[in-house]
Amino acid sequence: MQGKTDRAAWLKGGDARCNVEPKKQSHPYRLVLLGAPGVGKGTQAELLHARLNACQLSTGDIFRGIKALAECERTPAAKQALDCMLRGDLVPDEIVLSLVAERTRCLRCGGGFLLDGFPRTVAQAEALDQLLAKQTVKLDAVVGYDLPTEQIIQRLSGRRICPKCKKGYHVQSLPPKVAGVCDHCGTALQQRDDDRPEAIRVRLEAYEKNTAPLAEYYRSKGLLLSIPATETPEKTLERTLQALQAKQNGGAKPPPAKR
Ligand code: AMP
Repeated sequence: MQGKTDRAAWLKGGDARCNVEPKKQSHPYRLVLLGAPGVGKGTQAELLHARLNACQLSTGDIFRGIKALAECERTPAAKQALDCMLRGDLVPDEIVLSLVAERTRCLRCGGGFLLDGFPRTVAQAEALDQLLAKQTVKLDAVVGYDLPTEQIIQRLSGRRICPKCKKGYHVQSLPPKVAGVCDHCGTALQQRDDDRPEAIRVRLEAYEKNTAPLAEYYRSKGLLLSIPATETPEKTLERTLQALQAKQNGGAKPPPAKR
């Protein structure tokens, strides 16, 4: 599952088949990307995909996709997930896990994978361990991106997206040529529902309570690579690739525990 990333199967779920043949790779990377909302996991996943060829698998994209379904196409679980997402709350573990369990084929794909936004709770991380063990595949690393809270809020609240071509902007750091309009296709830009101030607060609380403990979970397994996300996406990508390389060569020392 690589080349031009084909997340269609992952996004459609169930028995949907991926239509991109995995190209033989010397090392299919299997990574989890960890970090608070707004640190740039999605951007890093796209950049890493271009360099490593592994597919970006984003649970957030799946839940956002529910919004595009007609009301009558939404199952009760899909409706519940969408309500949680719009509030900024986490979707209940059982819904997330049933969705991921449907895609075990993606986890054993020869092209590798970049899990973006999953796992987000210790229960999800334990379930992922079990799924991977069943598929006899292992994670190479968990890349944890760090950014101070003020910068997270600044990034999230200024983020805009083109609903048509999906190009991302930021009102300050990456503004479009004409305010509010996509440079590429001229469509009016939108703010993600969960990037509104009320939802940002809930998301950051949910992150601190449920997801931050995962750093320790993976550090204790020797998998965590902590990367500062304060620089440009390209510099952050280079740091990530260097850290992965060092880990692969056995040269990376585990980063010191945070206080
Ligand atoms: P993201 O794009 O990863 O920030 O995800 C957007 C929203 O989808 C989150 O705020 C949650 O409501 C929901 N979501 C995505 N992934 C998960 C997950 N692994 N567990 C629970 N909720 C999730």
